[in-house]
Amino acid sequence: MRASGLRDGRPGSQSALRGLNRQRIVDALTEGGAFTQAELSRRTGLSAATVSNIVRLLLDEGAVTAKETTSSGRRASRIRLAADGSVVVGFDFGRRHARIVVASPSYEVLAERVIELPRGYPALEGVTAAREVLEQLMKRAGIDRARALGAGLGMPGPIDRRTGMVVQGTILPEWIGVARDDLERTLGLPVLFDNDANLGALAEITWGAHTAARDLMFVKIGTGIGSGLILDGRPYYGNIGVTGEIGHTTTDEQGAVCQCGNRGCLETVASTTVMLELLYHRSPGEHGTADIVRRALDGDPGTLRVLEDAGAAVGAALGNTANIINPEVILVGGPLTAIGDALLEPIVRAFGRHAVPRVSESTRIEISSLGDRAEALGAASLALRHFQPAARP
Ligand SMILES: [Zn+2]
Repeated sequence: MRASGLRDGRPGSQSALRGLNRQRIVDALTEGGAFTQAELSRRTGLSAATVSNIVRLLLDEGAVTAKETTSSGRRASRIRLAADGSVVVGFDFGRRHARIVVASPSYEVLAERVIELPRGYPALEGVTAAREVLEQLMKRAGIDRARALGAGLGMPGPIDRRTGMVVQGTILPEWIGVARDDLERTLGLPVLFDNDANLGALAEITWGAHTAARDLMFVKIGTGIGSGLILDGRPYYGNIGVTGEIGHTTTDEQGAVCQCGNRGCLETVASTTVMLELLYHRSPGEHGTADIVRRALDGDPGTLRVLEDAGAAVGAALGNTANIINPEVILVGGPLTAIGDALLEPIVRAFGRHAVPRVSESTRIEISSLGDRAEALGAASLALRHFQPAARP
């Protein structure tokens, strides 16, 4: 159906061209969520007049909807695909939690839940628990299970795209060797699987405030530290899919041995695990990231010092990376985002010392507006991009 217009006449004829242009607009909305007509024009390379004609046609058919929104003080009408009853699911698994979101093709969240998981849970037991919650959520929201097109699933570890398996270097060793087939069998859905920081980056250009960004970096500071890269408008996967491993930038040759087998990686000095050890060295296991957030917001000097030191290390690693890829914007995500400036400012200061001046002055560094939902939303985007029938509408 992708080139259905071609059946109406010779390739290059008026109606064939209209069919192709219409498909470009539908593809842009499938990939990116909601856009103004001006953004659609920039994204597809079609003229404003062509976009306007096709959007009017799609609105008449009920294939898309338009909603008035205000962003940076300007009113604009954003176009998105109409809901058609189908859904996708986004899962994000962490050390002690899973987040589940159910989303429509119009990039709207229909249901969402976070569940706690026991430390060291076996991977597929965690997935089974999440599936049970998904079934409750769908039942309560009146969504037919048969309308679920597929799921995206994120976890904090490197995934080798040659084998589709989680490999060494993850903070969740119970996930090593888990493959896509295992997840599909456990969830009873088609599944795509990705590193959580890659999904955070994808969320920023689909659900977030950066849908127009071409070169973007998302860095997650949590139990582990990872980053996802959008280069030239697309998620960047490199040769085997193991990219953005900024948590394994060497910061101290003689430092502690890391999960990955090297020494003194960024993750061994700036993860939330290290922060908890520093703050609660007598009983780090009894405390969690919520305690760091609370103490930082209370202005506790020890906590601010720990954030300062961690931020300096993260900012240096980001500066070195930015010198290579020259991003427009770097988003800081993960469970500490509620801290705001006390987390961001030390990162920005160190970034300025390590990025070359032209890069440092032209790169925006912000806290992700998606907070700790970014990874699960990105997992839903991954599923929306891959499991929606290309023939829509
Ligand atoms: Zn490492």
